[in-house]
Amino acid sequence: MTTTVSRVYNFSAGPAVLPVPVLEQIRDEMLSLPGVGSSVLEISHRSKDFDKVIEDADARIRRVMNIPDDYEVLFLQGGGALQNVMIPANLITDSSQTADYIQTGSWGKKSAGEVRHYGNLNVAFDAADSNYNRIPQQSELSLTSDAAYVHLTSNETIQGVQFAQLPETGDVPIVADMSSDILCRPVDVSKYGLFYACAQKNAGVAGVTVVVVRKDLVERSGDLPSYLSYAKHSAGGSRFNTPPSFGIYVTGLVCKWLEEEIGGLEAMEKQNVAKSKMIYDIIDSSEGFYTGHAADVADRSIMNVVFKLPTPEQDADFVAKAADAGMTTLKGHRSVGGIRASLYNAMPVEGVEALASFMKDYAAKA
Ligand SMILES: *Cc1c(COP(=O)(O)O)cnc(C)c1O
Repeated sequence: MTTTVSRVYNFSAGPAVLPVPVLEQIRDEMLSLPGVGSSVLEISHRSKDFDKVIEDADARIRRVMNIPDDYEVLFLQGGGALQNVMIPANLITDSSQTADYIQTGSWGKKSAGEVRHYGNLNVAFDAADSNYNRIPQQSELSLTSDAAYVHLTSNETIQGVQFAQLPETGDVPIVADMSSDILCRPVDVSKYGLFYACAQKNAGVAGVTVVVVRKDLVERSGDLPSYLSYAKHSAGGSRFNTPPSFGIYVTGLVCKWLEEEIGGLEAMEKQNVAKSKMIYDIIDSSEGFYTGHAADVADRSIMNVVFKLPTPEQDADFVAKAADAGMTTLKGHRSVGGIRASLYNAMPVEGVEALASFMKDYAAKA
């Protein structure tokens, strides 16, 4: 059966666009996983068939991200919100300890809000004064020498600022929320104590949260409520309880797409840099018609391009006319306003070209 499906260019910040080959494989295998005779939605998470699904997802993400053996990969639920709790719960072992949080946007600020349940919060940097339009220099950080960890958000999805490189934190482990930029570029995993991503931006679908954590940190946690304990999830092979099995399957397919069709994360990064540059170039050559939110070129996100037109009325008109032209969900987050074009891995280059040409025409007509 052949069907003609019409798809828009979906610039949603999340849940977001998925690679078409991944959606096609999900469709093709929906009624029966090859050799299984049942849908992945219907099989036991303790079955041999599901063992294969989760082992495949684990092996693929390890290969594609080059994750060393002394790191655990956990597939959990609860999104970024639960990680904001599990991280201090597990890594602060005594309530007199301090955790450092580098706040470069709304998500980082939200993460920091849970620390007080477990220990002391030190805000090592906060760019609220400039509405989170930048990444700090090393000299601007007030770090605690014996902090339990330093938390940062590698890409701030709402403000469109992204760390180009990690700060120096000495022996203090870096914990990163990579929800909106995991798998967008190669990272040196050994520089992190832990990183996590709710999958619904670059790694799959809502419902699964990927946590990559150094094994010695898994062992740090004390006597916690079971579900909060990394050690319990690790001991159970991400099956302490019923895991988000469909989401794990999709994350495996996304990693397969990255390996087999994109050619790995270096190739993915090249595409992402080129795609975002198309939009940033239009902003920069618009003689002030478009203004980017990030103050410094070096801090610009290659995932979420955030900008404004001269007036809020023009922002709204732009969003409406773009939607008519088949480019949806471009409205910026209410805290920043303007436009946000999320250019995740799965956004095809044709979608970005269409947006770039729409922006050019719009500015010319204005
Ligand atoms: C989308 C996003 C989240 C969302 O977390 P949920 O709890 O899964 O809704 C967290 N952090 C960042 C940086 C995000 O982009």
